[in-house]
Amino acid sequence: MRSVWMWALPLVLAVPAHGQDTLTVGSAEARRGTTASGWLNVPAGIDPAVRIPVSVVHGAKPGPVLALVAGTHGYEYTSIVALPRVLRRLDPARMTGSVILVHMANPPAFYGRRIYYGPDGKNLNRVYPGKADGTQSERIAFVLTREVIDKATHLVDMHCGDGNESLRPYSYWQVSGSPAVDEASRQMVLAFGLDHVVVDRERPKDPAKSAYTSNTAVLRGKPALTAESGGMGLTDEASVAAQEAGALSVIAHLGIADTPSVKVDNPVWFDRSEVLRAAATGVWHPAVEKMQTVAAGTLLGRVHDPFGKVLQEVRAPFAGEVLYVVATPPATEGEPLAFVAHRLDGEPAR
Ligand SMILES: [Zn+2]
Repeated sequence: MRSVWMWALPLVLAVPAHGQDTLTVGSAEARRGTTASGWLNVPAGIDPAVRIPVSVVHGAKPGPVLALVAGTHGYEYTSIVALPRVLRRLDPARMTGSVILVHMANPPAFYGRRIYYGPDGKNLNRVYPGKADGTQSERIAFVLTREVIDKATHLVDMHCGDGNESLRPYSYWQVSGSPAVDEASRQMVLAFGLDHVVVDRERPKDPAKSAYTSNTAVLRGKPALTAESGGMGLTDEASVAAQEAGALSVIAHLGIADTPSVKVDNPVWFDRSEVLRAAATGVWHPAVEKMQTVAAGTLLGRVHDPFGKVLQEVRAPFAGEVLYVVATPPATEGEPLAFVAHRLDGEPAR
């Protein structure tokens, strides 16, 4: 066997790096027309090492490289359940371009059954582009930036309501100010197929402080979207199927594979949105449900102290729709209780 490798090696080296004869992400090394699965190793620092499961489906012909990132928040299960289903549908021999599937971006949060934060107390979706010598979440972000985002041309960050959040499906279209990237991101949002879209113009513009997974891609010139489908720690078929169908549809949209499209032509756009947060730590009593239409001033819920006294009344800041509401009792000062968005008449400005 050794002689075979000695012959093969010079041939591999003769291919220029950008020719991508082999696409390698962590220990997953896929030659053109093949699929490989392996692990992204995040070395130990002041806290333990992490292994992130990843698959690379490297199309027979060169084309876009789409990264699908599941499970950035470890209690958001729908994308983690959907990605192996996406993987089964992809045939690299018939693909023009490639797909990197990050099956579970945040194993410490998943296996620890943690909402919002990893064991280091940090939100993985706020620490990008990460730090090589930071705490666990920061090191995960650092490895995902270099190994996944830097190797991709497009990205979908797949979320849902966290373990305490009752959420209706929607996407974020991020407007960065780069017209070409923003238009390509908009087309990806439509391709993903969720018919409610929040227009987000507020994300950081400094690549060194990109904070979010999708923003890290966008600020590096790579069109991206964030999708939300599911919540409350559930894996209901409708929510998982929407993640699967959306991913396959973006793959089709980019011309990577002939997968089914669920493109939405005329979604409901939201031009203004606000996360309402707990002003005090206590016991949350929601007064609305997801998908509910609210007027400005509508009571969304109350935070009580443990004895039952009202500490805070949370009201809608403007007329809109409840895209998610925390549906379990714990309320911690500064953390979300509900997300209200205002419906735009027509299409957003580009
Ligand atoms: Zn999330």
